[in-house]
Amino acid sequence: MSAEESASTRRRDAVRAAVRAGIIDADRPVVGLLDVRGVRDAVAALHAAFDGAAPVLHAFAVKAASLVPVLRLLADEGMGCEVASAGELALARAAGVPPSRTVLDSPAKTHAELREALARGIAVNADNREELARLDALVRSAPTGSVLGVRVNPQIGGGSIGAMSTATDTSKFGVALRDEGARAWLVRAYAERPWLTRMHAHVGSQGCPLPLMAEGVRATYELAEEVNRAVGRRQVRTLDIGGGLPVNFASDVVTPTYRDYARLLAATVPGLFDGRYGLVTEFGRSLLAKSGTVLARVEYTKSAGGRRIAVTHAGAQVATRTVFAPASWPLRVLAFDARGRPKTGDPVPQDVAGPCCFAGDLVAVERPLPPLETGDHVALLDTGAYYFSNHFQYNSLPRPGVYGYACAEGRSDAEGGSPSTEEPATEDRVRFVPVRRPQSLDELVEESGGGPHTGGLSALR
Ligand SMILES: *Cc1c(COP(=O)(O)O)cnc(C)c1O
Repeated sequence: MSAEESASTRRRDAVRAAVRAGIIDADRPVVGLLDVRGVRDAVAALHAAFDGAAPVLHAFAVKAASLVPVLRLLADEGMGCEVASAGELALARAAGVPPSRTVLDSPAKTHAELREALARGIAVNADNREELARLDALVRSAPTGSVLGVRVNPQIGGGSIGAMSTATDTSKFGVALRDEGARAWLVRAYAERPWLTRMHAHVGSQGCPLPLMAEGVRATYELAEEVNRAVGRRQVRTLDIGGGLPVNFASDVVTPTYRDYARLLAATVPGLFDGRYGLVTEFGRSLLAKSGTVLARVEYTKSAGGRRIAVTHAGAQVATRTVFAPASWPLRVLAFDARGRPKTGDPVPQDVAGPCCFAGDLVAVERPLPPLETGDHVALLDTGAYYFSNHFQYNSLPRPGVYGYACAEGRSDAEGGSPSTEEPATEDRVRFVPVRRPQSLDELVEESGGGPHTGGLSALR
């Protein structure tokens, strides 16, 4: 069985087991499922692709899956964390990720965040000239063990999704390298600050072709070489090449792979892997996306204007980008019956709608699927990054529970094909562990200003 086939078999077993185990039911009609083996395999592929001469820190971009047990799993597999807020830093700390393996990026770091990072020895990439001035003051005021760098925007252009493209001419991120005078300013800025020993670029994310990303790394590398020539020593010692490997949302095939990207980098920037520079990477989506599934119950089915509609419990609250920008973020949807078995039947076009009260809350439009019925389930695939971990609290829909799953090894593949009418034992071999409890209504009320503040507005005259 190929890696893709075994991942899809694990997913199918997990759906069945989740229904059987009751981690999804009428009262908790949507859940996030995470394939722990898939995550481990992705991390292993990343390590293998960059396993070469240069020392490398793979820092997971926490925003892609801001769940403490996920960060701990990744740390156990040898990863650090890239954080972009005090909240993300708190999650990384809660997961036990040491400061020496934590990198702080963010376009809007506060004084307090910078001070804390430098006190703890967390690496910081300054986003802009003003932030560099703040670092000057902090470095003068107290010694720090932090590795400090500057984020550059190589301004090499964008990919197919504007909102995911961070290296356009006018991007809000980093010091714009091609703007008039910027290059000379950067070289001087490094020359004047011997403690600036890192250079960072993150060219973009989903929708950016690999050659564009590699060009961004090349521009960063060349600037580092120029700085080191200008100062006459190897001042810039590490290059942080960001994340952004795009994910294939169209099938179970993992493409492009980390190996594809590492090969292209080696060809485009030969000096990158010769051992003179340490490397930092900041991948997010590509590590988690394919290991996550949103599973939701079909509450009702109906038709309108000749269109079949399945009203499910997965909408904008768990698939925000797909609902608001469906052309950029299409998701595959699988149909399962009330017992969690793959549905059969001739596909007919259906809208898969969510529970939110706005007309655009659709995760798929006119999607050919076996006819869905009330009590069935739909699975939104490849949702392990930026989906169930990035809840959107529309309609006060509670955050769903998230569970990690693993399937015990060694089962026969007898039921690998069409679903049998027998109850195979495969789902009994699936084990679940909670990653995040489903949010209770009490917690939701509390988070929405309930409790001691309830009468506050009425008392104000
Ligand atoms: C979001 C982000 C990443 C991760 O991007 P992915 O597309 O999820 O790999 C890495 N670095 C920075 C600075 C980011 O903002």
